[in-house]
Amino acid sequence: MCDAGDSEPSSEHRAQPFFSRRALLVGAGVAVGATAIGWDLLSPSLSATAAGTYLRPCGDVRISSSWQDHRNRNPPSGEPGTDYAVPVGTPIRAAADGVIVDRKDTTSTATGRYLALRADDGNYIRYLHLQSSAVLPGTRVARGQVIAVSGASGFGYEAGYGPHVHVSLWLGGTPLQLGFTNSVDFENYAEPEDPMPVHQSSEYSWNATLPNRKWTTVPVGMGKYYLASTGTSGSETGDLAIYFSATGVTRGFQIRVVAEALDSAGQVTKTSGQPVLEIPPTRDSAVNPQTFGQYAVPYFLSGRLRIFAQVRALNSGIRVQKVIVKRNFWLS
Ligand SMILES: [Zn+2]
Repeated sequence: MCDAGDSEPSSEHRAQPFFSRRALLVGAGVAVGATAIGWDLLSPSLSATAAGTYLRPCGDVRISSSWQDHRNRNPPSGEPGTDYAVPVGTPIRAAADGVIVDRKDTTSTATGRYLALRADDGNYIRYLHLQSSAVLPGTRVARGQVIAVSGASGFGYEAGYGPHVHVSLWLGGTPLQLGFTNSVDFENYAEPEDPMPVHQSSEYSWNATLPNRKWTTVPVGMGKYYLASTGTSGSETGDLAIYFSATGVTRGFQIRVVAEALDSAGQVTKTSGQPVLEIPPTRDSAVNPQTFGQYAVPYFLSGRLRIFAQVRALNSGIRVQKVIVKRNFWLS
């Protein structure tokens, strides 16, 4: 089925951002409307179990032999599939929600150890050459759940091949019903990987006593207030979290994020406050005088927009000591 040399030249697959986390964040932003800052939790309807959503077994790794490569062999592979080159012992994740329907625990035959998944959409997926399986037939598994550990097993050996996992896919039916050679290219049904976001983290010692009951813009660095901003042509998608530590909190404080749209002259044309989050005092303030607050938001900025955070004290004497901002984002 797979040939022993896992040494074919790499047919690098360059992932296209098509149905990515980034696209989901954009969708969330658009759904909120003209303010162009995402707010709502990501719509579950966007993660439908359609073609193009299968998870690769081990992430965005090198494909050492494609489905077409398997078919082009002489003789052709008895079970064409995609070989993902990963070291022995790599966790393998379920491609989709479904039920485990078959499992083989011996290294015999060309398959070695394998595990088969019947996805909820009716399709049939087999993972070959495993070191071990983590779930029994009949088990319901979730997309992304670790179901096995990769190996190189086959022909009665632990290392019958070079280390890799082979994934075969049949549309409906079983390999016995449909014919082992009538598999289809799993890669055509796999979800493209997200491009890596930029990670940014900053920590600022603000040490300011907040005026009571007044929204105050939060600095995120010396003289810096904006969490993110875009010009006329650019756009930015991301998620960010702001962390506060404060003392003197007896009633609590509030946090919100505000988006501003600007015209070409840099004048603010529209202001949009996002939902307010209230942080109560830490329960046992005698033991821990610090209160921690956290505000997280996915966002999508397109056009001349910028966002910043504000806090409002609900009692006098609140001192915000530290402001930490963590952000993952993609520019386009
Ligand atoms: Zn193979």
